[in-house]
Amino acid sequence: MDPLEIVGNLHNTKPIYQPIISAIRHTVIGYEVLGRYRNGDEWVSLGDFFLDSEVPEEFKVEVDQHLLKMAIKDMLDTNTEGYLFINRNAKQLMVNDGEDLLQTLISFEQKGFSMSRIVIEVTEHDFDEEFENLNHLLLYYKTYGIQVAVDHVGAKSANIDRIRQLEPHILKIDTDIIRNHKSDGFQDIMHSLSMLARRIGAALLFENIEDNFQLHFAWKHGGRYYQGYYLAKPGFDLTAKRPLSVNVTEKVSEYIRREKRLVEERVNHVLAWEQKVKNAIPNWHGPKKIDTFIEALTAYFDEESFRMFICDSDGQQVSANFRKRGKEWEIEPDKKGSNWAFRPYFLENTMQMKTWNRGILSDIYSDIETREMIRTFSYPLTDQYFLFIDIQYSFLYDNESLLI
Ligand code: CA
Repeated sequence: MDPLEIVGNLHNTKPIYQPIISAIRHTVIGYEVLGRYRNGDEWVSLGDFFLDSEVPEEFKVEVDQHLLKMAIKDMLDTNTEGYLFINRNAKQLMVNDGEDLLQTLISFEQKGFSMSRIVIEVTEHDFDEEFENLNHLLLYYKTYGIQVAVDHVGAKSANIDRIRQLEPHILKIDTDIIRNHKSDGFQDIMHSLSMLARRIGAALLFENIEDNFQLHFAWKHGGRYYQGYYLAKPGFDLTAKRPLSVNVTEKVSEYIRREKRLVEERVNHVLAWEQKVKNAIPNWHGPKKIDTFIEALTAYFDEESFRMFICDSDGQQVSANFRKRGKEWEIEPDKKGSNWAFRPYFLENTMQMKTWNRGILSDIYSDIETREMIRTFSYPLTDQYFLFIDIQYSFLYDNESLLI
């Protein structure tokens, strides 16, 4: 479509609204505004127009301003509450120092549409150029209560530092990346993004949710907002209070039931392991006979473990390593004297174990020696000595509750 034709026929454009659903109340909390253009009998997407770098930014500003005014007017006319998410690229925002958008919003604020209901979506791609200018402009917008979302987060992981600087209110994650990254690598990206979001106090919004699996994924990974055809398709009419395509409350109850079952299973593993170690405690005759103690214990953890050892409360390994190779447990005496206190949470965990007299199961991590994903079950034998039982990947793999 000819961009000139679009700009010359603004009356043929109109906004369409894609509902955004809250994970807290399972209701629509706002809409992302997208643009449509009347081409004969059909309404076609304006996506290509906005994404085309050949189209002058001034054209995009003009069309976007028109769509925005119609959208806010629609919201006011229909008494629709909630947020309005609008897409703007950096270059477009820079036109006229971003004043057009601001003036429009100020004029609507006077008509009763609070600026705090506006969420500006900027994309990560925009961070490459003019980041400092963009950052300043968005900071200025924020002083008016306008919120900022970063769109397509995770597409480029190099931007973590810039996202941090921008301190957006929302990170929008394209659920497409689950489809394209079936590997563990994606779990790691997701984990980093959740940590980042927590650190900067941003909410996660998962968009393009197209099936139950993706909704479950979004829920499980702390998504505060959901968006996608699986839940609701975009529509022109805000008054049509269309029900969502799926019953989110019902779906979430399913996820909760499933998650509770897995947590319970995991806790039961830990309780069973604790019991096995407790049964062996009568064989504990102090650090002098430490290796005999572990040796006796290996038989009880033959299925689960591939490595066991004991440390004192300073992280010093006071036993040999018991290391299973094939079916045999071998003793590696040279590991005695290693210090493990530098490892994350080591001192915190030993203190917790000692205080509560309970075992602890670590999260899943990659073992430096074997490169396999493992977990460690640890238990306080006394106030000073702590048993570490590394659980092998094959056992985790056979027990779903231990894989998450
Ligand atoms: Ca968007």
